[in-house]
Amino acid sequence: MLDLVTVPCLADNYAYLIHDRETGHTAVIDVPEAGPIIAALSAHQWRLTDILITHHHDDHIQGVDALRAETGAMVLGAAADAHRLPRLDLALTEGSTFPVGAETGRVIDVPGHTLGHIAFFFPDSRLCFTADSLMAGGCGRLFEGTARQMHASLQKLSQLPPDTLICSGHEYTASNLRFALTLEPENTQLISRAVTVAERRAQGFPTVPVPLADELATNPYLRAHLPALKTAVGLPDADDVMVFAEIRARKDKF
Ligand code: ZN
Ligand code: FE
Repeated sequence: MLDLVTVPCLADNYAYLIHDRETGHTAVIDVPEAGPIIAALSAHQWRLTDILITHHHDDHIQGVDALRAETGAMVLGAAADAHRLPRLDLALTEGSTFPVGAETGRVIDVPGHTLGHIAFFFPDSRLCFTADSLMAGGCGRLFEGTARQMHASLQKLSQLPPDTLICSGHEYTASNLRFALTLEPENTQLISRAVTVAERRAQGFPTVPVPLADELATNPYLRAHLPALKTAVGLPDADDVMVFAEIRARKDKF
């Protein structure tokens, strides 16, 4: 089992450290800035071996070169985005596997927010790093991909084991759940999740990671196939992708 540490960065980003005790291997997922990650590594006395990049946006990669210079870690990211990522030591595609200590990570293509966005799944530890694809209570904006692509990406993630911890890239959960409640005001699990999230934020704690099972029960972007959601957006007979697109469009204006 990998140890997991959530590292708040910038205003509302998260990086994550994963650590294999047996081998001492440690990886970071995304580098919004190097400083907090270097501080977390030294607090745990861990030596960084790998830097995993989810997508090309500055708020996920701008600390990569500084962190590589400081630690000598290998940088892994999507082959498709190699032209707009920091220099990659290993270029990944859908289904690529790579070791972190004794565990094997697997790459899942999750286009939508950006075309080259990837997620990292660790089946043994039941961890999935989704950054700005599937987010706690929501999903990333469609900057490059289509609603159809993002819907398909989230469908793939929704097939992972329900006890998988979803580790996403930002602290947007409270506003995501406020929006979700406009669609499902009577979803009791959603109501209680919103209360818990508000309490955690008031105490200054992160609201990530989240078990996939909780997302399936409360995240509207994973629920576009349900009659309740279709009716809520006034499209009772539309297909799932159309409903998904309407939900995403409403959130953009929320
Ligand atoms: Zn992004
Ligand atoms: Fe982001």
